Amino acid sequence: MKKLIAANWKMNKTIKESVLFIEEFKKIIKNEKNAEIVICPPFTALTALSKELKNSNIKIGAQNMHFEEAGAFTGEISPLMLKETGCEYVILGHSERREIFGEDDLLVNKKIIAALKHGLSPILCIGENLEQKNQGKTKNIIENQLKNCLKSIDKSQMESITIAYEPVWAISRGNPSHKAATKEDAEEGHKFIRSVIEKMFDTAISKNIRIIYGGSMKPENARELLSMPDIDGGLVGNASLDAKSFAEIVKSVK
Ligand code: PEP
Repeated sequence: MKKLIAANWKMNKTIKESVLFIEEFKKIIKNEKNAEIVICPPFTALTALSKELKNSNIKIGAQNMHFEEAGAFTGEISPLMLKETGCEYVILGHSERREIFGEDDLLVNKKIIAALKHGLSPILCIGENLEQKNQGKTKNIIENQLKNCLKSIDKSQMESITIAYEPVWAISRGNPSHKAATKEDAEEGHKFIRSVIEKMFDTAISKNIRIIYGGSMKPENARELLSMPDIDGGLVGNASLDAKSFAEIVKSVK
């Protein structure tokens, strides 16, 4: 399976800015065939980008979603609404959703079940924060997040799921000089995630599932991170906001 490089734009870019990015980005990566590329813009830009990207090798994803199809949930977006925009992926359980908006594993699990029901491919974000890392709890946290977020998910559904290992302490929060995890630390996390998936499901699923790394990935470090055996791609925040920089990361996939 190809490596997956996904852009998480967070709360950045108007529709106009999103379209300008795509026009520039498409030209630079025209001949790139090595990676599967997904752009996750704000909700407001999904429809416009979907039109821009028709017949291209770039897919669209959302950054969040409610688990119900419709109803009295002011300010929320449903899986049906995302499907209608042409969206194929949805980021769920991002650490900013967890830390700033109080989402927990139970809620993330409901969202994953709903996304799968509607044919959206979840990118499930997991990872420890600095305090948990310093207390030596990384593996515990990762294992619990996986068990809780993937509760009642059937083996046959696992091929639609991507896991993003995002150590929270490595996320840039918009600071371009923030340090990523070392390739060795990232690889250790990915290997451990694969071993938990093997215990929860089976060996074939653990081998086939894509586990992508997120946290200050940028042109300077993408190649070495992406060369590690258990790193199947990247979820890129800050460095995905500039078309040239995101294209360089895509081109780092060999
Ligand atoms: C993220 O928050 O998903 C992320 C990977 O951000 P950054 O690349 O800016 O660290």
